Amino acid sequence: MLKVEKLSKTYKTGDKALNEVSFEVPAGQVVGLIGPSGAGKSTLIRCVNRLVEPTGGSVYLGDVDITRLSRGDLRRVRRRIGMIFQEYALVERLTVMENVLSGRLGYVSFWRSFTRRFDQADFDKAFKLLERVGLSDHADKRADALSGGQRQRVGIARALEQDPELLLVDEPTASLDPKTSRQIMRLISEVCEERGLPAIINIHDVVLAQSFTQRIIGLRAGQVVFDGKPDELDDKVLTEIYGEEDWTAMRRQADEDEAEAEREREERMAGLS
Ligand code: ADP
Repeated sequence: MLKVEKLSKTYKTGDKALNEVSFEVPAGQVVGLIGPSGAGKSTLIRCVNRLVEPTGGSVYLGDVDITRLSRGDLRRVRRRIGMIFQEYALVERLTVMENVLSGRLGYVSFWRSFTRRFDQADFDKAFKLLERVGLSDHADKRADALSGGQRQRVGIARALEQDPELLLVDEPTASLDPKTSRQIMRLISEVCEERGLPAIINIHDVVLAQSFTQRIIGLRAGQVVFDGKPDELDDKVLTEIYGEEDWTAMRRQADEDEAEAEREREERMAGLS
């Protein structure tokens, strides 16, 4: 379980990015974090594992307060937190398998990680994960030979390789087309359900967030202005989070995406008949 308590961040520039944000995420819950640009979503995700140092409040993973840990203890706790990034953050010249195995590096000794030697058990596990994300035929390909959707699947497998207790996901679909975005969001929500893994997904696309998460937290100017079920996100709430213009434009985009998905379904059906 994750518990965020009065988390605040003021950058050195004076920007108050988070202002006493509090919430809890129980095991297995997938939370969509939405809000306009500059609302503090990335800062929140990064404060949870201290890629950004909070200036106030606490973050508990189980009973450990992450904000109070020394550097050494922080390294150990970070192994329990998987991260999936917008730009995948893969090592381009390494193979898919090697990229997934790099999720283990926090565990193996310095010397073994330096020589990149892994146990058979590590390989077996990585291979199972590649099967799960639909990439078992691509294990030996170089990362730079993959499509965007495939690269994000590698990112997901790599995050799971470390058996995380929490998943932090930062704009996982920002570089993907609408169809691939839905596939990736579905995969993330399925693996979280299979593993009882809690997740926070920073996602600017409200419709994707509503379709694939169980709970939405809406941030505006560093504060939680909504925390509830996806179907409670009505026009009033969306206006409160985004202001008038932003989300009406998003809904138009969502309608276009839905129309495209419908066309795809029809094409598939026509192909089958
Ligand atoms: P979001 O992810 O919702 O777009 P961010 O967390 O990136 O929002 O930013 C929240 C606020 O903090 C913004 O006002 C932004 O300008 C500011 N901010 C973000 N990163 C930094 C930084 N490294 N230094 C100073 N201000 C920052």
